[in-house]
This record gives sequence, C-alpha cells and structure tokens, in this order.
Amino acid sequence: CGVYGVIGVTDAANFVALGLHALQHRGQEAGGIVSHDAEQGFNSVRRFGYVRDNFTRHSLMETLPGPLAIGHVRYSTAGSKGAAIRDVQPFFGEFSMGGAAIAHNGNITNANALRKELVERGSIFQSSSDSECIIHLMARSLQRNIPERMEDALRRVEGAFSIVAMTGSELIGVRDPLGVRPLVLGQVADGWVLSSETCALDIIGATYVREIEPGEMVVISEKHGVESHYPFRRVPARFCIFEHVYFSRPDSIIGGRSVYETRHQIGVELAREAPVDADLVCPVPDSGTPAAIGFSHESGIPYAMGIIRNQYMGRTFIEPTEQIRNMGVRLKLNVNRALIKGKRVILVDDSVVRGTTSRKIKEMILDAGAKEVHFRIASPPTAWPCFYGVDTPQREKLLAATMTEDEMRDHLQVDSLKFISLNGLYRAVGEAEGRNSNCPQYCDACFSGEYPVAPSDMIEQGFEL
Ligand code: 5GP
Ligand code: SF4
Ligand code: MG
Repeated sequence: CGVYGVIGVTDAANFVALGLHALQHRGQEAGGIVSHDAEQGFNSVRRFGYVRDNFTRHSLMETLPGPLAIGHVRYSTAGSKGAAIRDVQPFFGEFSMGGAAIAHNGNITNANALRKELVERGSIFQSSSDSECIIHLMARSLQRNIPERMEDALRRVEGAFSIVAMTGSELIGVRDPLGVRPLVLGQVADGWVLSSETCALDIIGATYVREIEPGEMVVISEKHGVESHYPFRRVPARFCIFEHVYFSRPDSIIGGRSVYETRHQIGVELAREAPVDADLVCPVPDSGTPAAIGFSHESGIPYAMGIIRNQYMGRTFIEPTEQIRNMGVRLKLNVNRALIKGKRVILVDDSVVRGTTSRKIKEMILDAGAKEVHFRIASPPTAWPCFYGVDTPQREKLLAATMTEDEMRDHLQVDSLKFISLNGLYRAVGEAEGRNSNCPQYCDACFSGEYPVAPSDMIEQGFEL
C-alpha cells in the first residue's frame, strides 16, 4: 500500500490526491482521503479504483476541505481478499479527546490474536482489515492524548507498519522498529508532507527532508513543527530488500540510493554471475527494465524492447484472482515480432513468483520465432511468502518452494534460467561485503526464509518455518 499526508497548506486534500496518484503503483484496488477543517471537522471519501478516476472531480474534492489531510492507496494482502468498501483506509476513530484517522502500509503479524482479544472485550470491528486493530487498541488506552494512545497501541502490534495518521491538528508518522516499509518526510511551502516514497514528494514540488527512522514517531503541528519520539525498544533495522527490486518506483530515493541505480546494478551483477551468449537483452517491462539495461551494459549484448507493454494496464500481480492474472499477462504484454524472429534472446524480469508471467512470455517469444530463450531474474528465488505487506501466495504456489533452479528451468522449458544470488543482490543495494549472515542488513525472508518477526498468526494456523 501507499500512505501520504500533508499539513499546513490550503486544501491539503488536493496535495494528497496528487501524492496518492504518484504512489498508485503501491496499490490499485482502492484509495481514500480524510481531511480536517476547523469549521467542518473531519471528512472522508473512500472509493474503489484509481486515484485519477476518483479524486479529481471538483464536487468530490470540495467535500474534503482543510489544511490537514491524509490518504491511502490499497493493495490487499493475504487474508483480506474480495475487498469491501469498509476495508478501504484511512480508518477513523472518535476518542474522548477528539477524532483520529490512520492509514497503514505493512501487515500486522499478530492481528488475529489481537482481534480475538479485542472482540472478546467488546470492540466492534467495522472491517476485516488487520489495520483496524490499531484504532481499537487506541480506544482502550488510558493515555490522555492521541499520539500517546497510538504509541500504546503500536507497542502491542507485531510486524510491519509505516503509518500516516492525523488528529484535528497534528499529522503523525510512525515506522515499526525494523523499518520494514518506507516512509519519508518532505516540506512544501510552509507545510509538511509524509509519503511512502520520494517520487510522491516530487509531484507536488515538495523538497525531501529525510526518512522517518525505523522505530521513530513524528508528530507534526502548525504550532510546534516536527517533534520526534522513539517509543519502541531499539533494534537493528531490516528494511524490505524487495522494495529495491520491485515494489518502489525507480525514480524514488531509498536510504540515499536511487532505486533505478540499484536495479541497474542488479543487472550488472547478474551479467557477471550468469553470463550467456545471445543476440539481444530484453526486459520484461516495466519491472525488469533497469536491470536489463544494466545486464546489457555489463555484457555488451545489445538492449532491445522485445516485449511491448500496453500502458493502459496496471500491475498484473496486484489483481487478486488467478484467472485475471493469467489473462493479464497477454492483456499487458505483447512480443515485438519483427525484432525477435531468429534471435537468441535474454529476458530479464524482476522476480518469479508463481511462474505465470515467465511461462506465458516464453510461449509468446517462441511463438514469435525466437531461436533461444534465456531468463535472468533480478532477485533470488522467491521460496517463502511475505507476511509484512507484500502479497505473495501460499508457499505451495511459489515455484521456488518446491523446485530447484534447474527444475524450474525444465518446468518453464527455457534454454537457461538464472537468479541473482542473495549476496549479489546485497552488493547491488550497496553492501560491498554482501549479506551479513549473523545480522542481515535487510529483511529478505521471501528469499531466505529468515523472518525477522515471527509471523505468529500464521504459525498459529500451522505455517512451518
Ligand atoms: P509470477 O507471474 O511469477 O507469479 O509473478 C512474477 C511477476 O509479478 C513479475 O513480473 C513481477 O513484476 C511481479 N511481481 C513479482 N513479485 C511480486 C510481488 O510480490 N508483488 C507484486 N505486486 N508483484 C510482483
Ligand atoms: Fe520484503 Fe520479502 Fe521481507 Fe516481505 S519478506 S518484507 S517482500 S523482503
Ligand atoms: Mg513484472
């Protein structure tokens, strides 16, 4: 998901709508905005579909007045499929000291246990979302102000959270102690911005200030500016390495590094680790493009657009059902026949999850007369599900959970298939020494099976580490 918030500008909701539009790649199912205005109090609009289709009409934006607003774009993760509008964030709660709205990116790994406990003690849930627990935990806190209630609530929550929240006068940002999901701070005119990624600061002309630190809470008001707290026990950070590979936009900056540069470097590492003689390097667009450019650069094999992407389709992975995903590949990608015929082609993609994309693309490429097909993948084999906010299927459905690299090659019937090594990936994100196996610098659980936070709900349901 994507989260965004602005304080201290006229019509903050307009800025939030633009910010969410720039974060659309993080979630395309639904979006919502809550604003606050001194006269009207809180207002909210939540809708299915793209931000650009919902939050541009004047009539709608006029219902969201005020200098303070937050928003969310939704991408449902395991357990919350078949979304209802009541699952669309931000969530809102009215407390004795006033209202608060929250937007959450990540996934709470003990949400089932928390929900059970809360329901037994009388909480009435409105949605099926894990994020709603936070509101109910806040309602039960005895603290006298909302940021402190939120600290109380979040100390009981396990898993990944980057949160943008608001009261009637404050914009609040929090990251979980590991800092699994991103969150950055920016400044626009006299106001402040919180955003999942820097690309959504650029769109409103905001300047990047810094990242919110893992385990940090910032409370921003027009009166006091930015106040920072550290409510949690401090632990070494474990940012999601897959944000670098796939999830974030290539024009964003993470930890001082351009995501594009990192992906380019992954391609360079891949070309060194798994060279192959061929005529063309083609990306599977758009997610494989920077790595394919890096691969071509390092190998000296010409780069070409052998697959053309229909710009009017979204990210296929994000469509929740298997059937839509299957069709999605053809709706979204088509082979550039004239270029491919008779060629030995290296295809570069960011990841293989179920193998749906690779299988279809191989068929299309061979159909178009390619002589050889070699896959090079910009991440290690995805052998474990993510429980921290990226929607991977159950372990059984992951190709790499049951097959070795060679078995996957045979299964996909391609001439060769190679994944970047975990160490190669770490080098590409700037860790010259590779992965520190005693204390890994990132979360890489979907590749390594080493979960930095035990997924307690899933273990309860029988998931085996
Ligand atoms: P597959 O078709 O193998 O199931 O999925 C691989 C494709 O989905 C890749 O082209 C990649 O761009 C995209 N993708 C891979 N992993 C993820 C993920 O965890 N989340 C999302 N949203 N997309 C992914
Ligand atoms: Fe990111 Fe993978 Fe960790 Fe999930 S399991 S947070 S996708 S690195
Ligand atoms: Mg892709």
